[in-house]
Amino acid sequence: MVPSLMSNRKHNPRGSTPGVAVRKHNPRGSTPGVAVVLAGLALLVAPAACRAAEQIRVLVLDNVNAVTISTPAPYSIRDADSGKVLVSGTGLNARIWAQKKGINVGGRQSGSGRIVITPREGAVITMNNRAYRGALQLSGRTGDLLVANLIDVEDYIKGIAVREISHYWPPEAIKANAVAFRTYALYRREHASRSDYDVTADVFSQSYGGRAAERYRITEAVDATRGEVLYYGGKILPAFYSSTCGGSTEDASRLWREANIPPLAGRRCDFCKDSPHLRWRSAVAKETIIAKLQKPGRTPNDIKSMAVASRTPSGRALAVRITTDARAFTIAAQELRSLIGPDVVKSTNFAVFPSGKNFIFEGLGWGHGVGLCQWGAYSMAKEGKNYRQILDYYYPGAELRKTSP
Ligand SMILES: [Zn+2]
Repeated sequence: MVPSLMSNRKHNPRGSTPGVAVRKHNPRGSTPGVAVVLAGLALLVAPAACRAAEQIRVLVLDNVNAVTISTPAPYSIRDADSGKVLVSGTGLNARIWAQKKGINVGGRQSGSGRIVITPREGAVITMNNRAYRGALQLSGRTGDLLVANLIDVEDYIKGIAVREISHYWPPEAIKANAVAFRTYALYRREHASRSDYDVTADVFSQSYGGRAAERYRITEAVDATRGEVLYYGGKILPAFYSSTCGGSTEDASRLWREANIPPLAGRRCDFCKDSPHLRWRSAVAKETIIAKLQKPGRTPNDIKSMAVASRTPSGRALAVRITTDARAFTIAAQELRSLIGPDVVKSTNFAVFPSGKNFIFEGLGWGHGVGLCQWGAYSMAKEGKNYRQILDYYYPGAELRKTSP
């Protein structure tokens, strides 16, 4: 039990007013500005010139010398920048490596520093015995290869959802999560800082084969929200989400100074009470913490005390005061969490106290707590709320648009 955290947790008043911007699509498409107020989020269907299947580039391999790529299907190899076909054929099984000038495919210099290998639509392409949908983009950089999977956004969402949530969850909870995953992925794509990929594969399941049966309910829910994306102020919302907020979602601007976005201002959440991650407790050896804190000018031999020095309005620790044998200093709670391990200190909504040779962290929730509370969505769906109501609760004021057919 963590009464100190519970009593410290304050409701963020900014999150209390659901200012829903709701529009309904005009089927004639002639007056896109027409707004119709409905209960909960409605869809704004994008203009007729909808984009075809959206792709996203997922980093799957980096800093390797060579890879083996195969497909039994007809394929083409193009220069990624000009789109020019360099090679095409039926059935590929080639060792591919980077040279100082360009990429070598099976002993033949491609003449390009970045290539895309695309099998016939629907066919699988295999790299180092792992099967992928879509195409593979290989970038050569001073003798190393970087590989990104070019994949349809909807397939990517299914791959993420399988890893992030259970397919036993109520359909409306899966749908709400699917919209958050899609929105966040497209936001990341729009703000990609790298020229050769949009997102990394850390939350990505690369293996799609043979698992259709167990993902059926997820596939169905993702398909039911196909192309639906959250917007705010005409821009794609950075739709953050986390497993369990623990009682209040966090104001995004507390974590990322630039993220002063009203739908992410944080609000009370009583829905994640049934989450298995609501309460956690981790004992961390003092020695471990000392080792993790080693840094020029900080090098403690012993920790005399450690306590939360300040909290955000949602109750999460902002700074932690640490007194060592040498000096006292404060460290950002987020930094301490990532130093010790985000799966050990599961959130920054913790209290910390000494116990023998350990420090005990007791806390609420799992994750940064911004945006959609995934276990909150689970309980809201169990209570009969639909995915639009769930999204409206966790992203108040955001607008749901259908961006592709
Ligand atoms: Zn919650």
